[in-house]
Amino acid sequence: MIKVGISGAAGRMGCAVASLVKGQEDMETGLLLEQAGHSMIGKDAGGIKITDNLKQGAGKIDVFIDFTVPQATLENLKVLEAANKPVVIGTTGIKADEYKKIEEAAKKIPIVFASNFSVGVNVMWKLVKEATNILKQDYDIDIVESHHRNKKDAPSGTAVTTAEVIMAEKGLDYEKNVIYGREGRDNERPRDQLGVMAVRGGGVIGEHSVIFASEGDKIEIKHTAFSRDTFAAGAIKAARFIAGKKPGLYVMKDVLGLK
Ligand code: NAP
Repeated sequence: MIKVGISGAAGRMGCAVASLVKGQEDMETGLLLEQAGHSMIGKDAGGIKITDNLKQGAGKIDVFIDFTVPQATLENLKVLEAANKPVVIGTTGIKADEYKKIEEAAKKIPIVFASNFSVGVNVMWKLVKEATNILKQDYDIDIVESHHRNKKDAPSGTAVTTAEVIMAEKGLDYEKNVIYGREGRDNERPRDQLGVMAVRGGGVIGEHSVIFASEGDKIEIKHTAFSRDTFAAGAIKAARFIAGKKPGLYVMKDVLGLK
């Protein structure tokens, strides 16, 4: 049995992961973590009390799944590194200096880090890479993403990764060419500029469109998540993959065996 620790256990993703873990024959929940002061601390959730003490709980788990906020993820990582436990990180909004800390930790423990755990989005990245390769001379490329009104970070981690895929395929610098939104006058776009637009509203779970537009036509590659279970199922696959692996930083392509 793989004993799973879940952070942000009372959050949207934490709940989705916890409920899917219950249905896995080879997994059980070993720890439910929330931040100190959370109203759910000490409450029973399916036979396990939600705690705020990772130091105490780390010994009870084989793998840890974290969908919280960057600050919490990095704090948790220090404890998990000391306890030598594998980690699956789904938290988005991670900045470059924070990502470096994840890379450092991955020298000592195995980590899967993904801005999107759904199989569909990982396939979308493959398709976007190929389309960019074919269309990069004659097509303008933009990304539009939509999420629920409570999402903290913008643009989404998935949109950022998608822009990274496109910039890498075009051999261009991200900082110089990717912009978040457009405003003002004299806003004609250069071909290599990539605009990322973030729409927020209601209960939208996650939509990402990559638009390739020429003078004569337009291609759109779009992914729509119908439920958080699509991300939770990927995180569970990642947890199974990472349990017992050597230290290193893995991505969903490794988990899914995509080239
Ligand atoms: P959410 O509903 O706000 O859940 C986050 C949870 O983390 C909340 O319960 C929050 O508690 C808790 N938390 C905050 N600090 C903590 C700490 N120090 N220790 C433990 N728990 C802590 O957000 P969500 O929609 O589940 O999303 C969580 C993260 O996952 C976001 O970054 C989101 O973008 C990302 N995400 C990633 C994927 C993917 O496939 N990679 C998919 C969906 C979402 P409070 O309520 O007290 O703040």
